[in-house]
Amino acid sequence: MPRAGRSLDCGWRSMLSDLPWLHDSGSRLAQILSSQRLPAGLLLYGPRGLGRHRLACAVAQIRFCRHPGSGLKSCEECPACMQVRAGSHPDLLQVRPEAENSAIKIESIRDLSRRLALSSGSSGARIAIISPAERLSIAAANALLKTLEEPSPGVTLILVSNASGGLPATVLSRCQRVRVSPPSTESALRWLNQRQERTDWSIWLTLAGGAPLGALTLARTLPDDVSALLDSLIQVVNGRRDPLQFASQAAEWPLEQLIGLITWLLRVATRAWVHAPLPDSVWTRQIAQASHLADGRRLVRAWQEAHGLLAEIQGLNPALARERLILLTMQAFRSAR
Ligand SMILES: [Zn+2]
Repeated sequence: MPRAGRSLDCGWRSMLSDLPWLHDSGSRLAQILSSQRLPAGLLLYGPRGLGRHRLACAVAQIRFCRHPGSGLKSCEECPACMQVRAGSHPDLLQVRPEAENSAIKIESIRDLSRRLALSSGSSGARIAIISPAERLSIAAANALLKTLEEPSPGVTLILVSNASGGLPATVLSRCQRVRVSPPSTESALRWLNQRQERTDWSIWLTLAGGAPLGALTLARTLPDDVSALLDSLIQVVNGRRDPLQFASQAAEWPLEQLIGLITWLLRVATRAWVHAPLPDSVWTRQIAQASHLADGRRLVRAWQEAHGLLAEIQGLNPALARERLILLTMQAFRSAR
């Protein structure tokens, strides 16, 4: 196991240098790695789209690297480092749901336990990354608990989750927790613009809940859909489209992203209403135009309520929440007509 030198986190900083918001959680992990043996359970929790999985792989790479440097630095060149990066290291196991929205079933955890029981290769360690851990079924979480309660020597389970609250307390109590936090909006926009200059990053960042890697992915995979939905939404606030028609178009969208889109639109409108600077795009110009007819206080209230829905999204009825969001938006924009 590599020992930390005086500059405890310099290795992490170089490994994660292109994702600067991971430095704090990387430093926390570096402390855990340097002060003791790797614990049997580690929980990396925070929003999606921040690189939590990459952080988990970085832990594995440092653990498996054959020529680790000082400051918890992996060499990046040995076969073990290359295998971790390629996802083919024999002692690094990964558990994910079988399908996009399905649960992680007990069979997957039983299979993992069997594989973990087999002897490890040259490193003497085995690491399993379970992601997203909030999708563990109750039976699967209970099965996992057995491995956490009676860990075999050298075994570490790294749970990657969007929130620590979604996991059973019994599992949480067996894990060392490391929070992964998003950067400030300003830093995230600066980082995104360094990768690709575009004027609409704030939309994608909002849709991704403030997570820069999530914004990059969404901008690559959803642009046509977002354009169409945003165009329709702007027509609704301008009174040129039937809100019911928009509601049926929006029904195909995940509620979280619809809330993100409407929150973004209301925020832009609020800023336009007080003449605050805005990124220049066709959309922001149209929203700014519509906001001149709106009531500023209602815009702010609608924005706060829409934003608040994100916090309670798990308990919402999607159809009712969609109706409420559209009504709020229309009321805010039409209040002065
Ligand atoms: Zn190496």
